[in-house]
Parts: sequence; structure tokens; C-alpha cells
Amino acid sequence: MTGTRTLGFETLQIHAGARPDPATGARQTPIYQTTAYVFRDAEHAAALFNLQEVGFIYSRLTNPTVAVLQERIATLEGGAGAVCCSSGHAAQIMALFPLMRPGCNIVASTRLYGGTVTQFSQTIKRFGWSARFVDFDDLDAVRDAIDDDTRAIFGEGIANPGGWVMDVRAVADVADAAGLPLIIDNTTATPYLMRPIEMGATLVVHSLTKYLTGNGTVTGGCVVDSGTFDWSASGKFPSLSEPEPAYHGLKFHETFGALAFTFHGIAVGLRDLGMTLNPQAAHYTLMGVETLSLRMDRHVANAEKIAAWLEKHPAVAHVTYAGLPSSPWHDRAKEVCPKGAGGLFTFALKDGYDACVRFIDSVEIFSHVANLGDTRSLVIHPASTTHRQLSPEQQIAANAGPDIVRVSVGIEDADDLIADLDQALTRAAGKAAAE
Ligand SMILES: *Cc1c(COP(=O)(O)O)cnc(C)c1O
Repeated sequence: MTGTRTLGFETLQIHAGARPDPATGARQTPIYQTTAYVFRDAEHAAALFNLQEVGFIYSRLTNPTVAVLQERIATLEGGAGAVCCSSGHAAQIMALFPLMRPGCNIVASTRLYGGTVTQFSQTIKRFGWSARFVDFDDLDAVRDAIDDDTRAIFGEGIANPGGWVMDVRAVADVADAAGLPLIIDNTTATPYLMRPIEMGATLVVHSLTKYLTGNGTVTGGCVVDSGTFDWSASGKFPSLSEPEPAYHGLKFHETFGALAFTFHGIAVGLRDLGMTLNPQAAHYTLMGVETLSLRMDRHVANAEKIAAWLEKHPAVAHVTYAGLPSSPWHDRAKEVCPKGAGGLFTFALKDGYDACVRFIDSVEIFSHVANLGDTRSLVIHPASTTHRQLSPEQQIAANAGPDIVRVSVGIEDADDLIADLDQALTRAAGKAAAE
């Protein structure tokens, strides 16, 4: 059908990883709602458990519906393999788990989703891991933060909530020079807008919860491996390069090459951490991914229009959207994500915290929820919600200060959304005047 043609993104988002069901011919990928799979015989079972043959054993590790989603996302990101898991936060742990041991650290961007700052600054300490947060626009600071115990560099391509855009290639060069993998959280951009692996990233993590599913129905995550990192070069990644005691001494890198990280993620990560994505959730995400490009184009068009309107509004101090010509990251965004800077941004209200809260309570089409990447437009005040656990300094570094409102622009009629923002801004200001 296709000869040597390289298939386009719009074709792959529908077809990659899927084929008509061999048992029934079903065109849509069936939901394999099963825990276990009958072995052909004892020899087959042993081969599967030895990873000598690839197949299905138990749905904590592998499931045919989830496998289609894994192949689809790996293809869209240009990776060698992918492992799905139960949430975006699970994906971050799954990405770090094969790389880290007690005493190891990661160097992470200050501009991250609030939950990730908490996970990295507090919770991973229980594993004996730690994170050093630096401004990824300061490449010397990234270099200086790396030491002998550093095992990864971590940042968001387009950062939640501020819409800051990372110079992925520049940070990848720093990681390369230090012999370390760069992990990019590509949740906010999606592979349609940004291709971190082409810019030098080793691993890509996703919250499937957001744009990939796209309608607020699923909690899920995914880790994609580029397949290009040499896990054996430095001796720093013994889980992948040395005999893995958790899998009867198997040497993953030597045995599986470009698929070492993916096999480790399934055979050890999912097996022992158990953060599995269920097949029903994988089905919903597969349905979402089929229309990813259409939705992202619309999210971007609406966000550009609304950000430009907000920027001129007298109650608004500033808008941080890299799609606006006024943004300091506008030129970088054109290079790093040429199809658009996404649908997520923040704006500041001149009247501060109280005006933000009144504004949030006044919107009608926008929903006040702790989520993003929905077809519906969403709004939240990070300082009183998602970024509440952060110190004031961390809030400001993450562009989540008290005067900041975050919007996730949906795919509704842009003029309806502007009318809703307009009436809410008027009501926020009106109540302030009356007080
Ligand atoms: C939501 C989010 C996460 C966490 O994903 P969950 O699916 O909620 O666990 C991580 N990174 C970013 C950028 C997010 O927006």
C-alpha cells in the first residue's frame, strides 16, 4: 500500500500499532478485558517467562490493547519503544527507576508542573533519590548542577503552567556532554507540536490524562525510549548494563539493544511497581489519539486568539503565551514547536489574588478544574490549588504566583470563550469596586 513512503503524522495517529483483530477481523482495536492468557504448552510458558519469546502472560505486564497504544505513541514520538502506565506521575517514576539508586540525583528544571516539583523535591527522597532544580535557560547552571551521582536531566518541553518553551536541543547537548539521558515531559506539547527525540532527548514521558486522551476521561501515563542511548558506556546504569538481579541476572542492554529500557520497564518496572494502565483506559486514549492533530491545531488557533485578546484587556497585567509575538520565547517556540505553542498559558491580573479568585468564581463556559488538555476550556488559580504545596519562591519560579490564572483553552467557539472571559473579568472588577 505504502511502498517506501514515510507515513504522515495524521496517518500514523490512526493506524500505527493497530491491525484488524486476527481472531474476528474487528477493525477497531478490541478492549482485551482479560487478566491472563492461555499458554500453548509448558515450553511456550517457559519461553515467555524467560523473555525468549514476546507474548502475553499477565495484564500487569502486558495486554494487547495497551500494546497497541504503546506502539502508537512510540511511533508518534519517533521512539524505539514505549511502556504505558497508570498516570503521568507513575510514568516519571517508571522513567527514573531503572536509572537511579539510593544516593543518586537528577537535575530538573524549575519550570515544572506543581505535582512534579512536589514528587521530585519531597517524595523521591524516600527512595534515597534527590533533585536539584535549576533554570534551564541558564545552561551553565545546568552543567554546574551535574555531579558524579547525577543520572538524568529532566524538564518539560512546554512547561505547565507558564507555557515556557525549553531549548531542548541546547539542554540535550549539555546532557550528551555529561553522558546523561535527557528526559522530556512532552505532556503539554504532545508529539504533534514537539518532537523531543529528534532534538536529542533520550526518554519522553507523558500524562495520557491530558491532550493525548483529550477529553478528561482517563488517568494514564507513558514512557517512550528513543533507543539511542548507550546504557553500557559509563557504568552508571547497572540495572540496564549489568546482570539484573531482579530478573535472574539478565543483561538488558546486551540482550535487547535499543529495546533494553522498554523491556526493563515491562519485565521489572511494571512487574514489581505494578503501576499498570488498564485496557479500558488504553481504549479511550487510542480513541483520543486518532484526532490528536485536529484537536491540537484547534487548541492552538483558539489559544492564539484568546491570548491576544487578553493581552489587550485593561485588567490583565501580562499574558505568558509563547505563541504571542510579545513573549520572550516566541522565536524559540517557532523553532522548537513550529506548529504552535500549545493551548495552555497563564495571565496575571493587576488586582492580584482576590481578583483571581473572583474571576474563577465568575466563569460560565470555562470549568474550574485541576486538569488541562480537555476539549472543554478549563481554568485554575495555581497558587491556591495545584501549586499550593510550593513555597512562595517556588511558586514564582514556576510562574504560579498569587496573581496568576492558568487557562487550558478548549476547542469550543473562540468568540464564545472570549465573551465568557469578558463577563468574568467584568464581574471580578465590579465586585472589587463595590467592596
Ligand atoms: C498532569 C501532568 C503530570 C501528571 O500527570 P497525571 O496523569 O496527573 O499523573 C505531569 N506532567 C505534566 C506536565 C502534567 O500536566
